[in-house]
Amino acid sequence: MSVITIKTLREIELMRKAGKITAEARSLGRSLVKSGITTQEINKEIFKFIKKSGAAPSFLNYGGFPGSACISVNDEVIHGIPGRRKILEGDIVSIDVGAYVGGYHGDCCMTVGAGEITKDAKKLIEVTRQSFFEGLKYAREGYRISDISHAIQQYVEANGYSLVREYVGHGIGKNLHEGPEIPNFGEPGHGPRLVKGMTLAIEPMVNAGGAAIRVLDDGWTVVTADGSLSAHYENTILITDGEPEILTMAEDI
Ligand code: MG
Repeated sequence: MSVITIKTLREIELMRKAGKITAEARSLGRSLVKSGITTQEINKEIFKFIKKSGAAPSFLNYGGFPGSACISVNDEVIHGIPGRRKILEGDIVSIDVGAYVGGYHGDCCMTVGAGEITKDAKKLIEVTRQSFFEGLKYAREGYRISDISHAIQQYVEANGYSLVREYVGHGIGKNLHEGPEIPNFGEPGHGPRLVKGMTLAIEPMVNAGGAAIRVLDDGWTVVTADGSLSAHYENTILITDGEPEILTMAEDI
């Protein structure tokens, strides 16, 4: 699992296809977030969309996970299990999806607000999203993995938020989780060198309060220890000999 794989042109084509379906599933999930809908209903639509696209939901039954999407609300950081919980006006909702097609995975996430959300929640979502793009600036040949990590950390902490440390970004390809691990914190200049053909899921998980988290009794749902809001943003990207390519590309990213 920790092996870093360099993709061939043929594999990259397949990953573009997986990435496109994954990004479209995220867009669909995003469009459904509104007061009154349950997380299970959003999950069901994502499942149907991924199947209709000829792919399989990467997360379903992964390590026993019971959903096609991880849907995490408010103080839930990641791995929220879709269920009967109703989204309320003002909630923030993370939609994390993966799709598997042609032997390859895509993985992406974003946090969205249900209706009117507070200014603070809006800022948390925007800083989390932008921190991905700050890290992406270093997703180029010549840099090392922790250059991405460091850029994310600097940006997030400068905005007064904290980064979850127990969960990290990752390589991706034939396996949903491959090497290298991509922490969202750390000193620059460490870890593997970035090489053309690497495909990475970069995914900052940002807490409005402290960095500490705990896992609920369901064995999956990760929440902030202090009950503060948390946001998550992720794309699958390709290292090239120039600008990185976002494989989970959609108009609304
Ligand atoms: Mg991921």
